[in-house]
Amino acid sequence: MRHFVLKALDSTTDAATRKRLKRLEACCVAPLLALKSDGRVGIVPGFCRDRMCPTCQHHRGREVAARVEHAVGRMNAPRFLTLTLRHQTESLTAMLDRLYASFRLLRKTDAWKAHVAGGIGTLEVTLSQTDGCWHAHLHLLVDGSFWKHADIKAEWLRVTGDSEIVWVEAVHDRSKASKYVSTYIGKPADVYSWTDPKVCEYATAMSGRRLVVTFGTFYRAIAATDDCQTKATLVEPLTSVPALLRSLGRDDVYARFARSLLARGGGLLARSVGAHMDPAAPKPTPLAPHEWASLTIALRRVNGDATAWLPELEPRRKWLGRPHTGTARDRCTLRLFDDAGAPTRNAAVR
Ligand SMILES: [Zn+2]
Repeated sequence: MRHFVLKALDSTTDAATRKRLKRLEACCVAPLLALKSDGRVGIVPGFCRDRMCPTCQHHRGREVAARVEHAVGRMNAPRFLTLTLRHQTESLTAMLDRLYASFRLLRKTDAWKAHVAGGIGTLEVTLSQTDGCWHAHLHLLVDGSFWKHADIKAEWLRVTGDSEIVWVEAVHDRSKASKYVSTYIGKPADVYSWTDPKVCEYATAMSGRRLVVTFGTFYRAIAATDDCQTKATLVEPLTSVPALLRSLGRDDVYARFARSLLARGGGLLARSVGAHMDPAAPKPTPLAPHEWASLTIALRRVNGDATAWLPELEPRRKWLGRPHTGTARDRCTLRLFDDAGAPTRNAAVR
């Protein structure tokens, strides 16, 4: 799937898509050392978080599924409702805009307000093999009272102007229904059978679009997990582990300093730089706050070189949260050591 998507995206000359291609190629290739909100450094897989990435979609799907199931468990009388647009020879972006706009209009109608208290839903996009047209469906789990199928159909036709395809049924098995709806988050679109231009069109149309909709009493019930995969505690990716190892190979002074601290950090941090922990040796003193700060600075220095190797690292900053702007607190003394462990010089660095 990954190779298929990469090959298709590689066929375009569109700058934005090519940028995404680079990120997709580097997805999970290397673990990243990232700064956490508590000032420490942790290790995260280098997720690209692109809608087209099978790995990231799978992770996102699993996370959303659990939350959807929790939300459905809170519903009084859940119903499964599918809204579909009659396909036209329009671009996918135009079709999705039309679908979301129509759904917004439907939610404003008196009939909707009288029968639906709230709910959650996901988007499914398919490509017809017979006519080559896009089909978009909204799979919704709504909480409310009985609403006659014919009445929903009439209302949907009124807001869309041309579509009356609506499916509604009562939910008997909440877990099964929420799994079904969540499938469309985790399930990568069936791109195998598509041509390269169609894959690129899909990639553009889906970029930045909400895959999970929440409304009424369930508005924000999923708390933006759809767009948030990495933990909120990560504030800045510092460098990748391979970049650090490569700098170590060149005997870079910052890399050596970072390694010594990472080795003391123990656990996954120590293993990431191949530091051997002797079980018989006395336990090293845990890193002090100023040492975590020094480690952060050293890893940033190493990353000056890493960006050449991982060009996607820079844009990833904005996905992990607010970019690190550098405040007075970051100014600290970086103490460098020679091989015998004696300090060589102190430098105030930002
Ligand atoms: Zn990815």
